Amino acid sequence: TYNFCSGPAMLPEEVLLKAQSELLSYQGCGMSVMSLSHRSDAFLSILSQAENRLRSLLNIPDHYHVLFTQGGASAQFASIPLNLMQPGKPGGYLDSGYWAQKAIAEAERYGPVKVVASAAESNYSRALLNGEYSVGAKLSYLHYTPNETIDGVAFPDVPQSGQVPLVADMSSCILSAPLNVADFGVIYAGAQKNIGPAGLTLVIIRDDLLERCGDRVPRLMNYATLASQNSMANTPPTFAIYMANLVFEWLLENGGIPQIEKQNQRKAELLYNAIDSSSLFTNAVEQGSRSAMNVPFSCASAELNERFVRQAEQAGLMNLKGHRSRGGMRASIYNAMPYSGVEALVNFMQKFESQYV
Ligand code: PLP
Repeated sequence: TYNFCSGPAMLPEEVLLKAQSELLSYQGCGMSVMSLSHRSDAFLSILSQAENRLRSLLNIPDHYHVLFTQGGASAQFASIPLNLMQPGKPGGYLDSGYWAQKAIAEAERYGPVKVVASAAESNYSRALLNGEYSVGAKLSYLHYTPNETIDGVAFPDVPQSGQVPLVADMSSCILSAPLNVADFGVIYAGAQKNIGPAGLTLVIIRDDLLERCGDRVPRLMNYATLASQNSMANTPPTFAIYMANLVFEWLLENGGIPQIEKQNQRKAELLYNAIDSSSLFTNAVEQGSRSAMNVPFSCASAELNERFVRQAEQAGLMNLKGHRSRGGMRASIYNAMPYSGVEALVNFMQKFESQYV
């Protein structure tokens, strides 16, 4: 069985087997990792190992804090304006699709928002490129969504925001390709795609921005509080952090981000080539904006789409139904999806096409 779910997504088998092997007794201590005190030496060492491994995978500079928090990326849609908005300066947003719009709608509850550019004209079938919009200096930050999980659109370049801190919702692309952390003020991501199980949210924040976080921000959303308390302002999601630590270890042992990027490119190429050379399946996203993580595609009729999804499940290819707002199909092929999974999907697509074309 291959699971193409957009999240919670499949985890590497090696990671699951390792977790299984020590589920009842973590490193022989006689207790499950799930029931270790978050103040215990054993858990504190998991937490610092997870942070160090993440720092090493992404080359995170010393003047950035790594925060392990909760509430998913959706809580960050509120945390960003609550912590970072400055008087008289709106939060800037690039409207690139479904998740960018969710971030915008939430920010509007807390302060003024300026949509700097929108891809609405293309029906969200392409990314917004540098040079197509200008970012004035009078913004508290510029927020964007480098990979739109539902639309299958990825930004080919990092937006140039000048002195305005860039904030990125990397929920569906973090750890899939190299990035230069120093380009960003804040990076955040829900864990349930490329990091680990749901319940953990990662925030990487440049230290100077911690000075903006005022007393009125709810304590558990306040980046300065989370940073000063080493992500332990309350009980952290200990099991999810343990799993993330194993995923980081798996990535490091398999060549780190450069290696996983190569694999991700091979998988995406295989799938997009199959779609482009088919006379049944289409993908509406422009060539330079196609996501290597989430690949939406569809047949000409809703009935054929439904049939495809149903028959794919019978063949062990799970969760290929597109998002309820978009219809069609979507294959999420995150880091843990092996090449063989995409091959199985492509073979199935070709077989399906031969029956219906
Ligand atoms: N942002 C992006 C890009 C996403 O893909 C998702 C979920 O799929 C979210 C935000 C919302 O994440 P959560 O469910 O963790 O709040």
